[in-house]
Amino acid sequence: MEQITSHYINGRFVPSHGQEVFDLVSPTTREVVGQVTLGDERDTRDAVRAAKEAFASFSRSPLGERRDYLQRLHDAVTARTREHCEAMRVEYGAPPQRAAATVARAAKSFLNAREVIDDVAFTRAFGDVQVLLKPVGVAGLITPWNSNILMICHKVASAIAAGCTVVVKPSELSSMQAQVLVECFDDAGLPPGVVNVVHGRGEVVGEELGTNPDVAKISFTGSTAVGKKLMRNAAETMKRVTLELGGKSAHIVLEDADLNRAIPFALSAAFMNSGQACVAGSRLLVPESRLAEVEEALRTRVAELAVGDPLDPRTAIGPMVTEKQYERVQGYIRAGVEEGAEILIGGEGRPQGLESGFFVKPTVFVGVRNDMTIAREEIFGPVLSVISYATEDEAVAIANDTDYGLFAYVTTADPEHGRRLATRLEAGGVMVNELFDFYDHPHAPIGGFKQSGFGREFGVEGIGEYLGTQSVYSR
Ligand code: NAD
Repeated sequence: MEQITSHYINGRFVPSHGQEVFDLVSPTTREVVGQVTLGDERDTRDAVRAAKEAFASFSRSPLGERRDYLQRLHDAVTARTREHCEAMRVEYGAPPQRAAATVARAAKSFLNAREVIDDVAFTRAFGDVQVLLKPVGVAGLITPWNSNILMICHKVASAIAAGCTVVVKPSELSSMQAQVLVECFDDAGLPPGVVNVVHGRGEVVGEELGTNPDVAKISFTGSTAVGKKLMRNAAETMKRVTLELGGKSAHIVLEDADLNRAIPFALSAAFMNSGQACVAGSRLLVPESRLAEVEEALRTRVAELAVGDPLDPRTAIGPMVTEKQYERVQGYIRAGVEEGAEILIGGEGRPQGLESGFFVKPTVFVGVRNDMTIAREEIFGPVLSVISYATEDEAVAIANDTDYGLFAYVTTADPEHGRRLATRLEAGGVMVNELFDFYDHPHAPIGGFKQSGFGREFGVEGIGEYLGTQSVYSR
């Protein structure tokens, strides 16, 4: 059983000062597969101090040097692909294709930042004035348990490109996955203190990062509730914050849609990462005229989805990450039924033969109204709500009638129409007709509107989140 007892501080693996031991449980078998000793405020302060010391020189490092570090980080992450996949499978229950793709994307984050860095206008001149972009200082990077290495890598990549040093606090539920990454950071041979990682609880390590006066910037990906708390904490020392929060994204299927395309797209968007994705298209908006066809197609396709062991290459949907998450999804399925929605396929309980892990049945609700709990709250599991609409205006109104604004999807036979419709949607990103891979589009910033947060990751804007502006007047 894996034991993680150290943090990565100032280029060394340092034994944890915090002494709480946390069990890491396999969601597939419910066995304890590892243990992590969680850090405390002192471990966090040590990491912040190391990052602050390193910032003095790293913030002034030439761009060529940072490009070289980004390349080395890419190579180091790629070199351990097998270990990353194994950790994701054992600790998280990631379906196999998802795990392999996740590692490739995580590694690519560094090359993407390396590419985008060339478009950042670090220096501009306007007559007697030079406008400079400067790294803001130590960045605290706080990440969730879903897609752990992706979140850490793209945040670290942008911070390094900008010239910031970082303290990463991964979700304690992802410690094994994070630990493989820490070893990659060490292999990459960056100057000590540039990247530090402290394992620990949000209320301990996360709170310390969020309030420590030497942390200039917080980049957070996680729930809206914690994001609000971090923002309140950050106000005290005027930290800059980037908040990548939850979502309840709508997928509008237009009248003219080809269902052979629309349904696989809808299910990929809704059930990606076993439904544990912030950008999940969890509300499917269908024209009344095509409702019967869509329901029929969904019933057939969902029945074909293989739920099961992440070791099995056919598995499309793995377990929920924890028992708590399993119970949460069950609670939402119950709420859907109680509020009058109808189960098309799936429902409460575990799929047959999968009683040992935190597996749920991929579930589709029909007859959903947009004011029902299952249409308003982020479920974070493979549960799709089908809502019908009469006109396109009504579809837009339903799509926008949500507290969230992270993502949206449109399916239509007329892509130009889809693009026009996209501009009416209150969402940070819209995908028309297919699932695009963010990591193939490094110049496109991603992030939310409304309670999905603010600030952007990826692109010039993503690196810009770690930069402040200085104007120098001289003659
Ligand atoms: P969470 O908010 O519970 O935890 C996220 C991180 O915050 C963890 O590392 C946790 O330890 C830490 N944390 C908890 N309390 C804290 C505090 N008081 N101060 C500082 N840090 C604290 O989220 P989760 O359950 O790990 O992840 C799922 C959520 O993340 C979902 O809501 C999902 O939508 C969201 N998410 C958003 C994006 C995005 O890009 N918008 C991507 C992935 C996940």
